[in-house]
Amino acid sequence: METSMPFGIFIFLVNFLRYLIVAGIPFIVFYYFLKNAKSVSKLQSKFPKLSDYQREIEYSTLTCMVFGVVGWVAFKTPFYSYTLAYENIEDYPTWYFWVSIFLMILLHDAYFYWTHRLIHHKALFKNFHALHHKSHNPSPWAAFAFDPLEAVTNGCFQFVLMLVIPAHLYAVAIFYLISLVVNVYGHLGYEIYPKAIHTHWLGRWINTSTAHNYHHHHGKGNYGFYFTFWDKLMKTEKLG
Ligand SMILES: [Zn+2]
Ligand SMILES: [Zn+2]
Repeated sequence: METSMPFGIFIFLVNFLRYLIVAGIPFIVFYYFLKNAKSVSKLQSKFPKLSDYQREIEYSTLTCMVFGVVGWVAFKTPFYSYTLAYENIEDYPTWYFWVSIFLMILLHDAYFYWTHRLIHHKALFKNFHALHHKSHNPSPWAAFAFDPLEAVTNGCFQFVLMLVIPAHLYAVAIFYLISLVVNVYGHLGYEIYPKAIHTHWLGRWINTSTAHNYHHHHGKGNYGFYFTFWDKLMKTEKLG
């Protein structure tokens, strides 16, 4: 992709604008228009302070900068020649384009679960993950609110992805958009799925905002991202 500005700055801006839109719209809807609506129920009755929103946005901006550097290293340095990334969309069948997105989600689910477990270790927690857990009652702005070391840890998934899965840049972009939507939903502070999801035969495998809110409120349990496979398998799932 050719841009008139340095590629890293372009990737930062894409990430930052996407964050502002994907986190900003639900924030305005749920924390302003529906704030006192009876039709939606907040997972924790209190609302975060203005200083919490500020911290979440500041550190999320920093994370977007880290992602800009990661994008530059991944696509514009010799690293790229070692990856399975492909540029001509015709190089693989159309169906594979969509399958590759699903494979990225599955791989990211495993990567996130295990790195998340790792940074909860007491030797790493303070420097890697304490900032994210300052949000005991997260808002959508917390989606990228990471210590810089956690941002690097999450950003490194980009390298793993490109070494393991043949992926087109557009598929990677769609994957990251889905990832951000799920991430913002996890930090929404409201549950939008029906309560019965936890007992539904398919729904029970989907991670919920209730589950990630529990993780923030209690500081442990429910380490997954998209699905509950890993939490079920490792017996770290906590329901309310
Ligand atoms: Zn955590
Ligand atoms: Zn979180």
